[in-house]
Amino acid sequence: MDNATQGISVFDRAERPSPLIDPFQRAVTYLRVSVTDRCDLRCVYCMSEDMSFLPKSDLLSLEELDRLCSAFVTKGVRKLRLTGGEPLVRRGIMTLVGSLSRHLESGALEELTITTNATQLKKYAVELAALGVKRINVSLDTLDADKFRAITRWGDVAAVIGGIDAAQRAGLSVKINTVALKGVNDGEFPTLVEWAHGRGMDITFIEVMPLGDIGENRLDQYLPLSMVRAGLAERFSLAEIDYRTGGPARYVRAEETGGRIGFITPLTHNFCESCNRVRITCTGTLFMCLGQEDAADLRSVLRASESNEPLYAAIEAAIARKPKGHDFIIDRRHKRPALARHMSVTGG
Ligand code: SAM
Ligand code: SF4
Repeated sequence: MDNATQGISVFDRAERPSPLIDPFQRAVTYLRVSVTDRCDLRCVYCMSEDMSFLPKSDLLSLEELDRLCSAFVTKGVRKLRLTGGEPLVRRGIMTLVGSLSRHLESGALEELTITTNATQLKKYAVELAALGVKRINVSLDTLDADKFRAITRWGDVAAVIGGIDAAQRAGLSVKINTVALKGVNDGEFPTLVEWAHGRGMDITFIEVMPLGDIGENRLDQYLPLSMVRAGLAERFSLAEIDYRTGGPARYVRAEETGGRIGFITPLTHNFCESCNRVRITCTGTLFMCLGQEDAADLRSVLRASESNEPLYAAIEAAIARKPKGHDFIIDRRHKRPALARHMSVTGG
């Protein structure tokens, strides 16, 4: 038995307590876990150039991450997404994926997936597929090498494309996430759509969210997706479709390519009514809503006892406080982020 699976209680379906239901009768079935706040890139909308990262001693160990995720699975979570920071730069990440994959085998978990910048995918794609990961999200905002370097501050787009190639070769289904950035990639959306659909990948556009101080003015970056959609409609015939992935994206089909385009609009469209998700940071803080400050410290609960009962109780108490929704605004007068924490802390 390796380190990550030692001391972890075996999932027992018979012991599964009732699923987590929040005060607005939404079942919480989707957990996003930030496994590290670190990243090998510094996207301008996500991080400042001189980020100070958490000391390693603050992070949950791989065993603790497994125990926490498994507690949520026992409490009815059916979909688990590993994110960050960049999840594939966390040392030992495949040990965690390997140990969590037992929940896929047992049927307790429907899906284990990751959101990644793809720089490390060449190395990990085959193993991810072998461990039961089927679909992954790759973030890519431009195909232009110079623009990519400018957005990520030093990234190499060829490494990302190579990572996507490797993932598709390994049989992983890839969805592209593109943040719409005014004056940066807004001339490129039709090209990105054609490129993604040409490779059999869905593409989802995301509005930039006011999270964390990044040393730049977000008003300069913000581009409402209504404008992105209007621009795409000049090139493609967009048909409304019913397709949902359990996430907040609304999809249309481009008739010319046959592929799907998603839109995630946290600022201009409120998608909170159907929210089924919560997020855990790499320090074990549970955020019930991406757009609110309220949180629960699960690390101290985890470390205080070997029994999972206090953990279940803490999770239930936190879900009972899940707010109805968020209220993001880009504060035009003060030009401040609506929330001080970065996306890389909460996990995108
Ligand atoms: N490093 C991985 C990646 O880039 O895919 C996973 C973590 S990243 C924080 C997850 C997603 O959040 C990415 O698609 C990224 O583009 C998005 N993101 C980061 N900061 C954002 C912001 N301020 N507004 C909107 N999306 C953001
Ligand atoms: Fe890193 Fe992802 Fe944030 Fe870019 S968006 S800096 S790749 S965590």
